[in-house]
Amino acid sequence: MKPIYLDNNSTTKIDKRVLDKIIPFLTDHYGNPSSTEHPFGWEANDSINKSREQISKLINCSPNEIIFTSGATESNNISILGVLNKNKKEQKHAITAITEHKSILDVFDYASKNGTSTTYLNVNKNGMIDIDELKDSITNKTKLISIMLANNEIGVIQPIDDISQICKEKNITLHVDAAQALGKINIDVRNTKIDMISFSSHKIYGPKGVGCLYINRKTMKDRISPIIFGGGHERGLRPGTLALHNIVGFGEACEIARKNMNQDIANIDILQNIFLKKLQDKYPALIINGDIDNRIAGNLNISFPSLGGKSLIKRLTKIAVSSGSACTSASPEPSHVLKAIGLSTSLIHSTIRIGIGKFNTRDELDIAAEHILEVITNMKN
Ligand SMILES: *Cc1c(COP(=O)(O)O)cnc(C)c1O
Repeated sequence: MKPIYLDNNSTTKIDKRVLDKIIPFLTDHYGNPSSTEHPFGWEANDSINKSREQISKLINCSPNEIIFTSGATESNNISILGVLNKNKKEQKHAITAITEHKSILDVFDYASKNGTSTTYLNVNKNGMIDIDELKDSITNKTKLISIMLANNEIGVIQPIDDISQICKEKNITLHVDAAQALGKINIDVRNTKIDMISFSSHKIYGPKGVGCLYINRKTMKDRISPIIFGGGHERGLRPGTLALHNIVGFGEACEIARKNMNQDIANIDILQNIFLKKLQDKYPALIINGDIDNRIAGNLNISFPSLGGKSLIKRLTKIAVSSGSACTSASPEPSHVLKAIGLSTSLIHSTIRIGIGKFNTRDELDIAAEHILEVITNMKN
């Protein structure tokens, strides 16, 4: 039997309604949205536009501020390198945080080897950056700040409104990785001053291999240059034939999120609280990693002290959870995020990330809690 899926921060099961919308675009509606000479192309282009509208409604921006990409990793690359590549000769400084996703950190690493000076902000033991440290690290060369909205490992939400205020005052371009926040918290682009935001479809019950970049007019016009070339699609920032079926699916996933998000998140919250209480009743010493007040629903990153650093995840055969971020767990390195908030390597081994999603049931979480408690009891004996 397959384990119970509790790894919804890594990816999510596609929503049936999304799948139903996608299928016809893999069969009958195969036109190229760039074909302007015939109905196959017109129809495809209409469907792309509809998806653009569905997404822009969820985040409150204009449809022409959406650039389709293959996912948040690509959006992060296009936005960060694109801004740093503009006026290449100019000395530039860029700021991010040590707990970002690898698709930010690796891009910053590349940029720092290619002439950009970089600053990595620390986080406190709750995983939050310090606004004063951010302010102090800004120089007259600072062109870009990239801070994630919600962390993929520990779920904490950074104070993006404060950061965007600072960026606006200092005229610095702000990029935000919101792959974990979309569909979980309200994102209102109009009412914040964020210049670029990365999104992914497969974290919100849409298909894999598609995402988008929100980019505002000012940044599009004056502050970015492309890093991929050919054909001029997506306002020249992301050329290549659009992945019509995936884009249609992503749009539908966003529409479902817009209509059902509040209810779904409320349900996830209830399940999460019942689950956590069960664990805490039997194991009061457990530690929830990441700020308890500023966090997305469904993410529980939990350390179990007193297991003597023994690997917990290997023994949890009935549930599919993560030991850290999925992107780093292929290598045995302890998670950079858990290290950043001060966890010892030993405690990191006894840490799991539980990602509860909208398809999880009360029954599943009851079984999961009992399984975890049973495994822990056996490990202590
Ligand atoms: C999943 C994730 C990404 C990568 O998104 P893909 O669409 O899989 O490339 C980037 N950042 C964060 C915070 C994520 O959770």
